[in-house]
Amino acid sequence: MKTSETLAFECETGNYHTFCPISCVAWLYQKIEDSFFLVVGTKTCGYFLQNALGVTIFAEPRYAMAELEEGDISAKLNDQRELERICLQIKNDRNPCVIFWIGTCTTEIIKMDLEGIAPILEKRLGIPIVVARANGLDYAFTQGEDTVLAAMAHRCPEYKHYAEQESIEHATLVKNSSNSKDISQKKVLTKSNLVLFGSLPSSVASQLNLELKRQSVPVSGWLPSQRYNELPHLGKGVYVCGVNPFLSRTATTLMRRRKCQLVGAPFPIGPDGTRAWIEKICSIFNIKAEGLEERENQIWKKNKDYIQILGGKSVFFMGDNLLEVSIARFLIRCGMTVYEIGIPYMDKRYQSAELSFLQHTCEKMKKPSPRIVEKPDNYSQVQRMHELKPHLAITGMAHANPLEARNIDTKWSVEFTFAQIHGSSNARDVLELVTRPLRRKDGFTSNSRSLSKQTLGN
Ligand code: SF4
Repeated sequence: MKTSETLAFECETGNYHTFCPISCVAWLYQKIEDSFFLVVGTKTCGYFLQNALGVTIFAEPRYAMAELEEGDISAKLNDQRELERICLQIKNDRNPCVIFWIGTCTTEIIKMDLEGIAPILEKRLGIPIVVARANGLDYAFTQGEDTVLAAMAHRCPEYKHYAEQESIEHATLVKNSSNSKDISQKKVLTKSNLVLFGSLPSSVASQLNLELKRQSVPVSGWLPSQRYNELPHLGKGVYVCGVNPFLSRTATTLMRRRKCQLVGAPFPIGPDGTRAWIEKICSIFNIKAEGLEERENQIWKKNKDYIQILGGKSVFFMGDNLLEVSIARFLIRCGMTVYEIGIPYMDKRYQSAELSFLQHTCEKMKKPSPRIVEKPDNYSQVQRMHELKPHLAITGMAHANPLEARNIDTKWSVEFTFAQIHGSSNARDVLELVTRPLRRKDGFTSNSRSLSKQTLGN
């Protein structure tokens, strides 16, 4: 791969702070409206969920803990019977269309056979049970979603090869239409069978759908879909494209197990990333993308006020959510220098287009290439930060206040996971987040329309 020759990759001890991947239930239960998530773990997992997910726990959320007891660990109780009892209760109380079992560290260590029990109970209760091992032993934070989507990919209905489908549609079209231009246009559309994967709020997903529709690329489905029985058809002849950098297992499952074709593109974060993402998808379907350059320029112009604040400043990513490379690339394009990109796990194949784009952006903006540190060591990172003195550190909550006390401005990294950061029109939200601590420090004021004033004073 070209990028590895120029970008410096390192790997440290993996001694870093991040959220446990079971936190993915927080956004997935909201995305898949008819689902229920059952986390099978201990009080440790329960405490984490309760604290991390804050007020949602008072809103009768569609997730719960199946808390393991002494008897479960020592196998005095029967796992299957216990889970059946709990799932029956969920079925009666909430009547979901699917139950997700989220495996944890404990179920791994005691080797609870969740994958073996699920099909038995699925038949008995008459409700699909999908098992995802989103544990803290193997994964970090957003990778939890990756394990859930990879498990869901197996449940998507089979897609009939487009040649068959196309001939049927073509025949009906010829019958109904006398216009040959109409026919060839429709032919292109039926060929572009595109499924996007990654969980995004519906409004953001519609924005991306619309951006692609403008280029005559219809999106045939999303993984995950809003409802479990609307899962997209997958199979040979279906193109899949990810919207998030942490979905490498899902991508592999879609390619290897479901025989889909992966479109490797940079991720639609920032106007530059969104444009590159759309262009790549269009190129796969032999469509010439139109009007993207003007649209990108418009967004840069619209956000000039924020970009001015970032120009010439430096940033250090401690790394905990796998969105780091895409956000760093966007910030370099805004004129920042990135010293280090910490990242829990780097799949160079899945992220290759993004990495090349990062390299290209550094060259274009005449900025040094950042070092990419996989499995970072937070202690060493803090030492490096003391030497480099970046203007901003993007970090978890554990280090934010201590760093602030040592005169380094910080931004909580977790906010990027929950904010709407995809697509051109959301670029402003990312900039709003990144510039907030810098504005606070500089006492920055602007006449601009929507620079948020709410946080300037505090
Ligand atoms: S790291 Fe393991 S034990 Fe801790 S909350 Fe996550 S799954 Fe539970």
